Amino acid sequence: MKYIERQVNVPLCAISTTSGLVNKTGTWKFAQPLFIDRVSPCNQQCPAGEDITGYMYLAGQGKFEEAWRLIMEENPFPAIMGRVCFHTCEEICNRKDHDEAVSIHTVECFIGDYALSHGLKITVTQPEKDKKVAIVGAGPGGMSAAFHLRRMGYTVTIFDSNQSPGGMMRYGIPSYRLQNEVLDGEISRLYDIGIEFKMGVKVGKDITWDSLESQFDAIFIAIGAYEETSLGIKGLNKDGIFNALEFLHEINLGKSPKIGKRISVIGGGNSAIDCARASRRLGAEVTIIYRRTEAEMPAHGEEIEMAREEGVQFLFLATPREVYGQRMISGLKVEKMTLGEIDDSGRRRPVPTGETFDIECDGMIIAIGEATIVADLPPFISQKKGVVSTDQMGQTDHSKIFAGGDIIDIP
Ligand code: SF4
Repeated sequence: MKYIERQVNVPLCAISTTSGLVNKTGTWKFAQPLFIDRVSPCNQQCPAGEDITGYMYLAGQGKFEEAWRLIMEENPFPAIMGRVCFHTCEEICNRKDHDEAVSIHTVECFIGDYALSHGLKITVTQPEKDKKVAIVGAGPGGMSAAFHLRRMGYTVTIFDSNQSPGGMMRYGIPSYRLQNEVLDGEISRLYDIGIEFKMGVKVGKDITWDSLESQFDAIFIAIGAYEETSLGIKGLNKDGIFNALEFLHEINLGKSPKIGKRISVIGGGNSAIDCARASRRLGAEVTIIYRRTEAEMPAHGEEIEMAREEGVQFLFLATPREVYGQRMISGLKVEKMTLGEIDDSGRRRPVPTGETFDIECDGMIIAIGEATIVADLPPFISQKKGVVSTDQMGQTDHSKIFAGGDIIDIP
């Protein structure tokens, strides 16, 4: 645990070290209090490194702009994070042992919305530097890096193959969790401080990595994980089958994917929950099929509960083995699973039982995880199966190239 010791100017205090029952006065000594400031558990748990105790204190005093500016020292997207972050800060809140955790994310969301509705602006805080940085990927990692570098005075250009910035925040999170106006509002501040966005430009195709390397002093790669993991079963070529990102992308473009009325969602993570809840909003009956039990689901507990409240069904200890149907999916052969030894993920391994049964469905969404598309990485840095090794500062084995987010091997 990180902590700072500081000795404050407190007068010596008299303390009694033994019981006053032995003699009338006890044994008296003098001691000087030593105050130790520690980083609070919630601060330590925040992936964005926000000073939670600091902004909660300011918000408690009604100093919402100051609270917002304190969050912005670390995280340019409080209105977004307040909505979509799974608030790991609250899981470790001391208050939850008394009654319930402080609802940090709702305060963060309120402060973010306050800043948007009051048109609060940020500025570049340091003198302009004669250095240019290219950021590849306009998702949360790339834009956060761009924000901090620009405020430090660097000239920053972001490249992304999509037409609009936001990455997974725009294309992978359903709008019932994150509305476009909130996303656009917070991203617009990055334009305001002079970050250049080159959208619709795929690095490696529309511009070569070599030319990027020669034009910029440094490159930060944050392209995320967009390759869907294959289910690897028979019959996946039928209509009515979607991958999670493809499905959520269509939803977020305002389309209504043709998914049928009875949907099986395969997987136990947050993407599976998002797909299931979005399908419910399209009027479908939805069953999530997961090969372990609820206790091992990677999805956040609150999200699972909300899905259940919205009518999503769960089929645990089961995995699909074959897709039935002619042109369209009409059902699945499913194998029952049991739990075995603990595996590398720290959870009990799903073990096939050999016992199968059939279920009817006219749509399936596969949400079993994503990986980095290896071909999208520059050829001159080392990577292993799409995972890039960096040091603690995010530097790869090429001195000008840094990487972050889902593509690196440091959480
Ligand atoms: S909800 Fe906000 S404060 Fe809590 S962990 Fe997420 S980003 Fe950090």
